[in-house]
Amino acid sequence: MKKLVKGLHQFQTQIFLSQKELFDRLSKGQSPDALFITCSDSRISPNLITQTEPGELFILRNAGNIVPAYGASNGGEGATVEFAVNGLGVKDIIVCGHSLCGAMNALLHPEKLENLPLLASWLSHAEATRRIAIENYKNLPGEDLQNIAVQENVLVQLENLRTHPAVAAKISRGELNLHAWVYKIETGTVFYYDSKEGQFEQLTQYSQLEDQNPPRFAFERLI
Ligand SMILES: [Zn+2]
Repeated sequence: MKKLVKGLHQFQTQIFLSQKELFDRLSKGQSPDALFITCSDSRISPNLITQTEPGELFILRNAGNIVPAYGASNGGEGATVEFAVNGLGVKDIIVCGHSLCGAMNALLHPEKLENLPLLASWLSHAEATRRIAIENYKNLPGEDLQNIAVQENVLVQLENLRTHPAVAAKISRGELNLHAWVYKIETGTVFYYDSKEGQFEQLTQYSQLEDQNPPRFAFERLI
């Protein structure tokens, strides 16, 4: 804790004063560009890896970057998503998993959760991830299987997000884009799910994300 309190002092006496304009603006409200959903893992720093400032990302974190399907949980995830979409009007939601994820490792090895009943229960919202990984990739060595689980999990959580009415309605109007990302701790690189290619590619420029989330009108010609 000593380090944290020293950091607070340094922030207040140096950083805050040097960025007074930014903090004055933030005191009047927030208008973040995106909802960033990621794991609680201490090695992930959303603002650091995206080089964004306070006020630019609305952040939701939990073990395994999980968003329970609509109605499946009374936790804060649904409320946070709803507020980000309808209250703040974010245009993008990113679900960002990461390499070396302990939650995904535990998901694949439930025997490790004997003394962690709450975590075991929470990970049930990623049961689809576990089944996809175990049933389709069971011959892969452990490390590869975990990487697959990390990737499949962000896709499963994107599907869960689509079950939330606030999200579904905005997507249908082309007002909200969903993104599946994986951050690799070892290299600092981010991979995104290329929906056209059906695989994860390294994300290096914005143009890669264009046309990834076309609006989905069931009766386009009638509207
Ligand atoms: Zn994790």
